[in-house]
Amino acid sequence: MGFLENKKILITGVASERSIAAGTARAMAAQGAELAFTYQTDKLRSRVEKIAEATGSSVIIPCDVSEDEQITDAFKQLGKEWDGLDGIVHSIAFAPREELKGIFLEAVTREGFNMAHEISSYSFAALARGGREMMEGRKAALVTMSYIGSVRSMPGYNVMGLAKASLEANVRYLAQSLGPDGIRVNAVSAGPIKTLAAAGIGSFKKMIEFYEAMAPLGRSVSTEEVGNTAAFLCSDLASGITGEITYVDGGFSTVGIGPGVIE
Ligand code: NAD
Repeated sequence: MGFLENKKILITGVASERSIAAGTARAMAAQGAELAFTYQTDKLRSRVEKIAEATGSSVIIPCDVSEDEQITDAFKQLGKEWDGLDGIVHSIAFAPREELKGIFLEAVTREGFNMAHEISSYSFAALARGGREMMEGRKAALVTMSYIGSVRSMPGYNVMGLAKASLEANVRYLAQSLGPDGIRVNAVSAGPIKTLAAAGIGSFKKMIEFYEAMAPLGRSVSTEEVGNTAAFLCSDLASGITGEITYVDGGFSTVGIGPGVIE
């Protein structure tokens, strides 16, 4: 029996088989979770259907988080399928491509800043609010996906680093808001993984190479490794954990001076 048996979890952010949300869905299904999925656009629907089918789900709902109405409708629709909700996986981020290359100060614009924060951080609070009623009295848990660019500067990550800092603060404020209802809120801070979103970051290939050279495990992590941690955080095994950012990055964040620098 898996540790997510009898848990109903909503997965957002699947865009391809490589998405962190897809790896998380596979990890959660392996632990017995019942899953529902949202998709951003009609173009992505068939891809999400494939992942849903592979994880034993047929609940697929549209939800572009830039529109309040779509968020409200998504939970209305979910309420017709399920009588309650035990977890939400928020695996959504966006910033205009031009913002994710070159020097931050030259790339950042008011519009890009607002968009990155709205889609990548505000949407987490909006989904928490949308799902709150369905999660009441069920020891539910929310998890989002962050990156170390929130606390350290990274060439090319630029405005997304600011949005991730906001997202991590969001985790702490949501944990405080929802704690009295017994709902927990956490983040996984993942090492770099080649996904569609990552392809938008100008220096991504070099970031991965540097990361592999620095990380104690000497390799990139998989979406399943990130997903296993998200599964744990959404389970009752993590009942004492909320407001936390858990690194799944092969140990990269723990290193001061990497190998080969000092002989
Ligand atoms: P991905 O491209 O597979 O997923 C990004 C998802 O965001 C897509 O499914 C897309 O549809 C969704 N999205 C964007 N705008 C949206 C909107 N307006 N409404 C609804 N959905 C929207 O890439 P990924 O790497 O799996 O990204 C998932 C999360 O993991 C992101 O928050 C990302 O920042 C984070 N993350 C990624 C890495 C990495 O290296 N890939 C590392 C750490 C954290």
